[in-house]
Amino acid sequence: MKNSNATTELVAKLRRINQLESVIGLVSWDEQVNLPEGSVGRRADQMALLAEIHHRESTDATLGSLLDSLEVEGGAELSFDEQVVVREARRDFDRVAKLPAEFVARKAALESQAYHAWELAREDADFSAFAPFLERQLDLAREEAGYHGHTESAAYDFHIDTNDPGMKAAAIEPLFAELRAGLVPLVREIVDSPIKADSSPLIGLSVEGQRTFLKEVTERIGFDYSRGRVDVSVHPFCSGDAADTRMTTRFMGHAPLEALFSSIHETGHGLYEQGQPIEHLGTGLGRAVGMAIHESQSRLWENQVGRGRPFWRFFEPRFREIFGLGTDGISSDQLFLTANEVKLHPIRVESDEVTYNLHIILRFELEKRLFDGTLEVSDLPDAWNALSVELLGLSPKNDAEGVLQDVHWSGGDFGYFPSYCLGNMIAAQLWDRINVEMPDLEREFEKGDFSRLLAWLREKIHHQGQRYDTMALVRRVTGQMITPAPLLRYLRDRYLPLYC
Ligand code: ZN
Repeated sequence: MKNSNATTELVAKLRRINQLESVIGLVSWDEQVNLPEGSVGRRADQMALLAEIHHRESTDATLGSLLDSLEVEGGAELSFDEQVVVREARRDFDRVAKLPAEFVARKAALESQAYHAWELAREDADFSAFAPFLERQLDLAREEAGYHGHTESAAYDFHIDTNDPGMKAAAIEPLFAELRAGLVPLVREIVDSPIKADSSPLIGLSVEGQRTFLKEVTERIGFDYSRGRVDVSVHPFCSGDAADTRMTTRFMGHAPLEALFSSIHETGHGLYEQGQPIEHLGTGLGRAVGMAIHESQSRLWENQVGRGRPFWRFFEPRFREIFGLGTDGISSDQLFLTANEVKLHPIRVESDEVTYNLHIILRFELEKRLFDGTLEVSDLPDAWNALSVELLGLSPKNDAEGVLQDVHWSGGDFGYFPSYCLGNMIAAQLWDRINVEMPDLEREFEKGDFSRLLAWLREKIHHQGQRYDTMALVRRVTGQMITPAPLLRYLRDRYLPLYC
């Protein structure tokens, strides 16, 4: 092939950038897990230096001309996989190279100012102190879309596409509308039920025991601890890649199963990363598609698997053994109900898998209106509170509990929220397909064997890298476009028998 040298050279450059990114990821993991308080300043300098080197490497002119030559002269001669590598490298290159240095500096400066303003505003529950920073973040978000050739009316789509390649607000809108119509009455039915979960018998489970249990669970569902680990951080996350996957959890006294479920969730992310072919790390053949697909993996393991009966049939005896819990303390049915507790909560991250989607629909609706100009930043708290009443039947008691609860907008992360809900829909669609192809799978879960599920996900999702965009991958694997019907059916099937 004519361009094989250029392809080899491109891959070598991408690998180098990937190595650098893995170093940045590791240093940033350390910052959230280990960093002594007095060393924060030093770490900021280190991160700034790494960011500078990364920016230089990823906007290198020779990288740009390599891409030009591969696209112009050899496009037709490239294999499908090579085209994927070139396409994704171009996407990454343009995302950085098209931004003027002055804009990047302005954006970085605003990010840290806006973050501190958000922290203070949240402490005081005073949105007006944060509003000017949000205005500026929105201006920058429109400006950034402009550098990539998007008109102002398509700016929100640009940011959605950043997280989930190929997705647009207009495609998400009808999905969320249908989901909302099905969810609002379902949530009402569940929360009005006299049946309530009671987690009090689990309060005070020893942290040591929780650590042991979650390690056993995550190992059994397939996380490879020989190239990954789990630690503790304020907010659980998963970082790294297939060669070295880092995840974190947290132990919360008032929510005794939080560490377990957040660990299963992060393991879902970790398994996706560990399933990427190591030989392709840094190229489009060895990377996750986007946030929604990533989230579908974490949600599938956390919810469809981890909150299911077969999972608990296998793990319950060990859970009781570790914590010395007899059935007189909490019955099997109560334990299962606690693992599937549904409760209205004003805070998104404290919400269960049923009500969570309504929190996302609220944010999507408001982001869309902020971008299309039908909502002013100054009117945002009122709009938030009104929509919260419409969707959840809850009015936040102040801005800290409402519009100021999430960090995302302070960092200019727009178009990120929809991924969570799309991920839930995709997880339910995958689950349907999985049960059609392997109808006896849950019998294996009861025996503690999750290997066939993992092998299926490896083949259909993990090993695909970025060959297909979000919608195309879902269609290939499930035979359908993204649709809310399987999620609604799954939620009704799981929760109505428990609560009604
Ligand atoms: Zn997640």
